[in-house]
Amino acid sequence: MDAAVASELDPHLRVVDAHTHIFSPDVVRGRVAYVGRDLWFEHLYANPKALLISAEDLIASMDVAGIDQAVVCGFPWHDLGICREHNDHLAESCARSGGRLSWLGIVSPLSGPMAVREAERCFRLGAAGLGELNADAQRFDLREPARLAGVVDVCVAAARPLMLHTTEPVGHSYPGKGTATPDRVIAFLRAFPDLRIVAAHWGGGLPFYELMPEVAQLATKVVYDTAASTYLYRFQVFRTVLDVVGPERVLFGSDFPVLRQDRFLRRVRETPWRDRDEARAVLGGNARRVYGLTAFQGADR
Ligand SMILES: [Zn+2]
Repeated sequence: MDAAVASELDPHLRVVDAHTHIFSPDVVRGRVAYVGRDLWFEHLYANPKALLISAEDLIASMDVAGIDQAVVCGFPWHDLGICREHNDHLAESCARSGGRLSWLGIVSPLSGPMAVREAERCFRLGAAGLGELNADAQRFDLREPARLAGVVDVCVAAARPLMLHTTEPVGHSYPGKGTATPDRVIAFLRAFPDLRIVAAHWGGGLPFYELMPEVAQLATKVVYDTAASTYLYRFQVFRTVLDVVGPERVLFGSDFPVLRQDRFLRRVRETPWRDRDEARAVLGGNARRVYGLTAFQGADR
């Protein structure tokens, strides 16, 4: 089915952006102080042109783009204390959003029992999952999964997913690329067959290796989000990955403010969808299922 037809047929499609990042006013206004407190934050945000946005900025962008709901992440702080502050801010912002925003709790997974307790606290506060965990920012190694078991067990017990920053072993370099490549992700998957994983940024190319049966078998509980897609791949990646992994395992996500939501969504709507159900799944249904979101009941757009 032709893409333009799909969007015309479904003008009221309930879109979920499954990957965004927001910060508290403290961090937005006090960027310089946080640059001094976290190396990965310095790496990404020492440049004053790198955008830091608030919950209000996100909702304004969603209104422009015609996006009903978003899943918000904080930042993969190395210090558990800053993670905790960010989680409090995410919980409050989402509670105030009237159902528009859901959040993922962030923990620094090598912080031992304190990390486990913070993960449990996030779920008590209503987090939809944990993430975006980042091996480089938080200095853990996916090839040493036993050290991550405490936090993973909390997700499995709560039947909630873990979103992981993943990256390509090839191609251009960029700030934040890191080393969480498909080979390392596979070591992690092998250790935790019961964990639902959202592999951000198209899994660093893991879907392409799913053409190998043994990889596909390890990845059955993995779903992929499309965060920052335009910086990494041609738009053909949508059709190509959907053909390999099927319509249930791709979540539309922008990585806003990395990509502009309105422009990216407009272009993604033009994917040569197989049918209307595939478009509905990728643009919202899959995210609602994976993150256990209640459909937003606001006014029709
Ligand atoms: Zn991200």
